[in-house]
Amino acid sequence: MNELLRSLPSVERLLATPEIEALEAGFAHDSVVALVREKLGQVRTEILSGSARPDDAAIVDRIVGAASSTFVSWPNRVINATGVIIHTNLGRAPLSEAAAEAAKLASVGYTDLEISLESGKRGSRYSHISELLSRVTGAEAGIVVNNNAAAVMLVLAALGSGREVVVSRGEAVEIGGGFRIPDVLLQSGCKLVEVGTTNRTYARDFEAAVTPDTAAFLKVHASNFKVTGFTSDPGVDEIAEVGQRHNIPLLYDLGSGALLDTSEYGLAPEPMVQRSIADGTSLAMFSGDKLLGGPQCGIIVGSSELMGKIGSHPLMRALRVEKSTLASLSETLLPYLRGSATDEIPVWQMISAPLSAIQERAATWQTSLRTAKIDSEIEEARSAIGGGSLPGESLPSVTLSIDPNGSPDSFLAAMRRSAPPVIGRIENDMIKLDPRTVLPGEDDALLASIKSAFP
Ligand SMILES: *Cc1c(COP(=O)(O)O)cnc(C)c1O
Repeated sequence: MNELLRSLPSVERLLATPEIEALEAGFAHDSVVALVREKLGQVRTEILSGSARPDDAAIVDRIVGAASSTFVSWPNRVINATGVIIHTNLGRAPLSEAAAEAAKLASVGYTDLEISLESGKRGSRYSHISELLSRVTGAEAGIVVNNNAAAVMLVLAALGSGREVVVSRGEAVEIGGGFRIPDVLLQSGCKLVEVGTTNRTYARDFEAAVTPDTAAFLKVHASNFKVTGFTSDPGVDEIAEVGQRHNIPLLYDLGSGALLDTSEYGLAPEPMVQRSIADGTSLAMFSGDKLLGGPQCGIIVGSSELMGKIGSHPLMRALRVEKSTLASLSETLLPYLRGSATDEIPVWQMISAPLSAIQERAATWQTSLRTAKIDSEIEEARSAIGGGSLPGESLPSVTLSIDPNGSPDSFLAAMRRSAPPVIGRIENDMIKLDPRTVLPGEDDALLASIKSAFP
């Protein structure tokens, strides 16, 4: 075994091979040396645990392979053919070109992020976005942090720390990995007071829980599950009314924060930001990259008095967002003001896409594949909203259904290896590709990927 180890090429010898020398054209000498050492070390460990000694060419391949998967730009652009519009694993909402361009412009040069061009004096990075958020939602003020989890945590810490926050028992829930309302309250230093029952809570339950120590009422939208049957949930206006009588703010974690009415597209109604503010919510929190269709961020809108407390809380600085986020968010909000969100925001273009357009696209794909002698079927399907929005709700769609002629898993894996990678799904051993979430201009690449995936 020692002999085997001794027979391994030295670091110097590996560095002198043409393949590894070529790596040095693109990467610093030290990074290449470190990679060679690491891979050589792995080979040694494998030999010590009984593996055969790979030949020198295999060792070089391994180093070059590791370099080509590590020393690269990331993330990769992929084509989403899953039909899940807000796909968390694929980065949630795709931005509009305009929003992406705004982010780029803000990133590659200097901006008037915190300076007033009029007076030349220092300004706030939030004043413009606050103004836009007010106009779009009807709230007095708005502010933006890293994500909605951060928004909820910040609001609770700023307004409820050391005091009681009243939540309906049916809403002390877990939303996605690691975001559990009781834990968030605890982290923010609040004492959770649960009222009502899992299925039925009334406004009078909130009223009965009021003590001199009550800091806020908290409402949480059940984003990712549904309770049906014998249920009762007080309206926002009813809880807000109780709050107003006792001078207790109503905080509402809306989750998605829809600005358009989802019921106009055949979906269940998702609580709308404007509506919740009009109904008396003091502060509403929601994500930027779910149904809003913008960049990852958490948005807080509502009373300017409470916003003042939030803006001056020390956590605010820790949760501050990037200028590119504010730029793309601003560009995402403008279409709502223009009344053209369904034409300009990809998430809403996908939600509002007529079934006939999706069928037509699938038919074009089918025709193109037929010329390559690939058979496919167009089948009725449902596209999901995803991203923990509108559980169980879906839109009528179609999928192109392809027989993988072998293992469906291998077929999907081959599609993930194409450039750009394509993400599809399997149903009954068939490959299903939903045109709804394939962006305009991605059709040719998708078809090339299908063709390349056949064994
Ligand atoms: C998605 C969601 C969150 C978390 O939002 P992020 O932007 O992912 O941090 C919190 N609350 C509700 C109700 C949600 O739906």
